[in-house]
Amino acid sequence: MPAYKRVLLKLSGEALMGDDSYGINPLTIDAMVTDIAEVVQSGVQLAIVIGGGNIFRGVAGGAAGMDRATADYMGMLATMMNSLALQDALRQKGVEARVQSALRMDQVVEPYIRPRAIRHMEEGKVVVFAAGTGNPFFTTDTAAALRGAEMGVEVVLKATKVDGIYTSDPKKDPTATRYDTISFDEAIIKNLQVMDATAFALCRDRKLPIKVFSILKPGALKRVVMGENEGTLVHV
Ligand code: UDP
Repeated sequence: MPAYKRVLLKLSGEALMGDDSYGINPLTIDAMVTDIAEVVQSGVQLAIVIGGGNIFRGVAGGAAGMDRATADYMGMLATMMNSLALQDALRQKGVEARVQSALRMDQVVEPYIRPRAIRHMEEGKVVVFAAGTGNPFFTTDTAAALRGAEMGVEVVLKATKVDGIYTSDPKKDPTATRYDTISFDEAIIKNLQVMDATAFALCRDRKLPIKVFSILKPGALKRVVMGENEGTLVHV
């Protein structure tokens, strides 16, 4: 039995890259969608927020001299490409999916409409939220916290390259150990980076737990949803 009825999965754009240095790797997205399909088939309602860092990040455009807000809109368009790729891959695995965008692109995807998104999930469709929050100067982590709160999910699943939150960087410190659970307050005191500060504050305020787990570990998503000991849970 799944441990949750409704969850929001935050995938970074980089998660789609695989071993490539840019863009969307077909084998990587296929493996990811296999894991997602299993979760949906177990009856869990699923929404996804996907980043765009594999294509474009506003901060990079800003650093290169672009107007930051314009660069951020480009970043949001990058998330749209990833969302369409994800929708397509899900459908090819037999999972119905709908993209809803925070920026209107009516010929291509639905606009974000909260009750409609909820209805899609109730019907067993995966909703992919594109274009982040629709506002520059924010991130898709914040979009994940925002949409997660709006959708009334029980947990935000933050997929990363590391299998949880460690006492220190496990790549640099061999004595680093993984937390099974940690409170929001403790994570702040220990200055552990879970999500960006805006996203973290929103989740904490809404008492919305965050589960950090590895997207690179096959089957980890399923184990997380089944409530097994996988990753780190940040709780109130
Ligand atoms: N972005 C934005 N507002 C949002 C979400 C995203 O302006 O609400 C832009 C921002 O430029 C960001 C880019 O979209 O760099 C891609 O998102 P993000 O960096 O969060 O992607 P990830 O790191 O998860 O791949």
